[in-house]
Amino acid sequence: MDLLGNDYPYSSTALSGKHVLVCGASKGIGAATAKMMAKAGADVTVSARSHDDLVHLCEELTQLGSGQHAPLVLDLEDTSSIQPAIQILVEQRGPIHILVNNAGGPPGGPLLSNSVEDFEAPFKRHLHAAHTLTQILAPAMEEVGFGRIIQIISTSVKEPIPNIGLSNTLRGAMASWAKSLSRELAPCITINNVLPGFTDTGRLGSLASSIHQRTGKSIEDVHEGWMSQVPINRLIDPLETASAITFLALPASGGIRGVSLAVDGGRLRSI
Ligand code: NAD
Repeated sequence: MDLLGNDYPYSSTALSGKHVLVCGASKGIGAATAKMMAKAGADVTVSARSHDDLVHLCEELTQLGSGQHAPLVLDLEDTSSIQPAIQILVEQRGPIHILVNNAGGPPGGPLLSNSVEDFEAPFKRHLHAAHTLTQILAPAMEEVGFGRIIQIISTSVKEPIPNIGLSNTLRGAMASWAKSLSRELAPCITINNVLPGFTDTGRLGSLASSIHQRTGKSIEDVHEGWMSQVPINRLIDPLETASAITFLALPASGGIRGVSLAVDGGRLRSI
């Protein structure tokens, strides 16, 4: 599948005139989302902690679409830095129409071994950051009459996954937060979640290594164990996840609100 080429699913003007802020954009699903939205004609601001990665990504985005792209260096765990950074961004590049809340997942391991302090950083970079960004951006979305807020969470929202209890806890909180807001936000602003399954990014590689170190299982066996749970019998391409995220961002998706859409190759057994 060539999702940025011959098999690209959207028109090159589908998001023209829309300014997107993609968080956690330097790698994985975030980077794929930035690419697909650039290809759809959006002006993309890519955010993460590494300036050089973001500048390199912006160069790629420029090759893909006709929008204007820019980096925003931001550590989502530094909650108090978010407001001033966004204020400068909006002054320089105008209001944000589409917010993609995304950041690196928490480390794995048994929940009982986690201290209370272990919860702080993941909750800051996911829940606290998403809440802060939404509070800052929602008023202008309402003013311009268009807003899309999309969280990249996990299928553990529906079925908690063994041995990543801290992640399961955080993901449940994120999903409830988003569902609550879907009843509060202005009618022109939708909020939805995308739930990745086993997706071919660095995150999955680091989970496999931590299982290998903890259990002695080979990386191949870990991988085979995962694939045995997935009817499509392969990893998801991050661009497939990005395609679902872009779909939820389209003007024509305004009727979809408060859903959690799994992109998991059919792994979830629940309805
Ligand atoms: P990834 O680790 O490849 O990328 C995470 C991105 O977040 C990177 O750009 C990273 O630099 C950025 N980031 C991390 N900490 C940050 C911080 N403090 N401030 C700003 N940016 C920060 O992850 P991914 O595989 O693309 O997954 C995206 C999300 O989906 C994660 O929350 C992940 O746990 C979740 N998820 C992934 C999978 C999978 O199989 N890949 C499955 C289920 C859920």
